[in-house]
Amino acid sequence: MGRPSYVCATCSEHFTRKHIARRHNQNLHDGNADIVRLIDYLVGRSSGQYRPNNPFWFKQNNPYGNTSISSMSLATKLRMPLSSLQRRRTKLEKSLLTKSYNIKLKASGGKMGDAVINVDKGRSREVATDIFKKYKTNVMSVSTRINSEHNVAAQIIYI
Ligand SMILES: [Zn+2]
Repeated sequence: MGRPSYVCATCSEHFTRKHIARRHNQNLHDGNADIVRLIDYLVGRSSGQYRPNNPFWFKQNNPYGNTSISSMSLATKLRMPLSSLQRRRTKLEKSLLTKSYNIKLKASGGKMGDAVINVDKGRSREVATDIFKKYKTNVMSVSTRINSEHNVAAQIIYI
């Protein structure tokens, strides 16, 4: 292992080689991430251009993201006794967690993007509902954002 020379600005994972970083970008971020030199990343972090993110959240093989993983494999991955893992898993799945389906972007040939829309005060909900009704074939989700601008964000799938 050499010293990390490149950083993915989206998930802050470090790489020693540029081609590995590029492949990471393709595989995990559909080529949308900035791969920058470590020094540029550090400058960007201190200026607030880049934000700290845990690379683990973006892993497609993230053991917490794969809801169909067997308790046995999960216990092995996390080096936990199977019985404790099963107990905690059941507890979490009953209380806090739900399973969900995700679209295979590569297979569908589409890309995912966020459209953030500024709307007049108090109309966020109305606009969000409107977007969902009018563009339901392309809109994955619509949410209102709580900030000074009263924004609406729509997650859109496009070709
Ligand atoms: Zn990344």
